[in-house]
Formats: sequence, structure tokens, C-alpha cells
Amino acid sequence: MALTDEQVERYARHLILKGVGVKGQKRLLASSVLIIGAGGLGSPVALYLAAAGVGRIGLVDGDVVDLSNLQRQIIHTTASVGTPKVDSAAASIRALNPDVQIDAHRELVDASNISALIEPYDLVIDATDNFAAKFLINDACVLANKPYIHAGVVGFAGQVMTVVPGEGPCYRCIFRDMPAAGEIPTCKEAGVLGAVVGIIGSIEATEAAKLIVGVGEPLIGRMLTVDALTMNIRRVPLPKHVPDCPVCGEHPTITAIDSANYIQPACAI
Ligand SMILES: [Zn+2]
Repeated sequence: MALTDEQVERYARHLILKGVGVKGQKRLLASSVLIIGAGGLGSPVALYLAAAGVGRIGLVDGDVVDLSNLQRQIIHTTASVGTPKVDSAAASIRALNPDVQIDAHRELVDASNISALIEPYDLVIDATDNFAAKFLINDACVLANKPYIHAGVVGFAGQVMTVVPGEGPCYRCIFRDMPAAGEIPTCKEAGVLGAVVGIIGSIEATEAAKLIVGVGEPLIGRMLTVDALTMNIRRVPLPKHVPDCPVCGEHPTITAIDSANYIQPACAI
């Protein structure tokens, strides 16, 4: 389908960009992305992917906007305090780009709903900040053979990796077991600089756009780490294949999503 005159103007900087062009823009418009978490990471991811013309964006979040979210969750506004985050985010996306179809899922992701939630989408974004959700997203995406982008942020530091099942390691290849509650401080306990979730979320959006368009080298088999205090940014090589990974290894022990494996106190950034 040809781009409309309005789309030619809206996406002009993509259309002239080597590596994207009309073909890449059509891929973006035909793509679907599920963003799990409409908070600090989900805000820049949703805004940039909507601006880029990703045709269908699913948002999953069970919370309502709180005043303490606004220090970093830039998709929400003071006027949206008290309203469901998915509704507030959907309103911002609609105002930004009417090309985007939005599916608002006002629920927390858990073992009972994750597989059905991710199924209709090409790509999944982990925009959560609790380990239970991170392990759950990883395992469900690997079992469904669905690419996804992992990110985590705390304090002034963050990390991003892209997981394409069969092409590189998964989150559980690197972090085998969920840390015990309280072992690693969450953003709620340690705080987080707002702009740092913006950096990390923007990197997730960039990885998503690259995967959809099919350009560049995704962070498959590499963990990007950002220390914003020193601005030390590293791309850490990861093992290509981890034969004893419990979910993507040669003899997996996790072959279905069992709720008993994902219980941990949650913290939404
Ligand atoms: Zn693995």
C-alpha cells in the first residue's frame, strides 16, 4: 500500500534515511509491538515507536498514574494523575500519531496471561522493573519463539539486551535464577534519575526499530551497560550459546509457564 501524502510528510526524515526509506517505513507501519509496563521505560519506548509509525502498539499495565511517577514517566501528565496508565499513555500516543492502533491492556502481566498477551505481536518490550516480570517475559518469549528487548534501570545505571530466540543467549542464560526479594535494591528503594530511564528506554526503542526495519547490528549476544555517573557505556559480549540454560538450553527444565516460578514483590518504575 502506498504512503499517503500526510505520511510522506510525517515520516520524511525516515524516508530519506539510508537503511530505512520507504521499504523500512512500510515495515514499521505493518509492525506490532507489545510494551509491558507503561512507566519510566515504557514512556520513551511508546512515544518513539508511536512517532516512528509502528502500526499497532499494545500497552500492558495495571497501575494508575501517581504524582511520584511524573519525575520520569514522561508519557503521563499532571492532569492524568489517578487515571489508568494505559489510558493516559494511549491518549498521548493518539495525540502524537493517529496512524497507530493502540491496544490498552489494563492488567498486570502474570503467568496466567502472558502467553496470550504476547501472541499477537511481532516483538515484545520489557519495560518493567521487577525480576519476577523480567524472568516471566524472558521465559514466555523464548517458549513462544518471540523476539524481545530486555532493559533494567536502577539509580544512575541501566542495561539493555536484545533476545532473539535461536540467534543468541536469553536473559536466563546470563542470570540463571531470580534474586531473592531484597537481594538487589529496586528503584523504589534506591531511587532512579529520570533521564536515565529515558536513555535506556530510548535504546530499547532504537533496538526495536532496527529489528523491525532489518538494519544494523542488534544487541543480540551483547549486554549494553550504561553508567550515567561516569558516562561509561560498554557493550559486554555474552556467551553465544549456553547449553545448560533451563529455558533455551539443550535439556530445558522450564517447558511451560508455571506461576510458582515467578513470585516476587513487584516495583513499578
Ligand atoms: Zn537461555
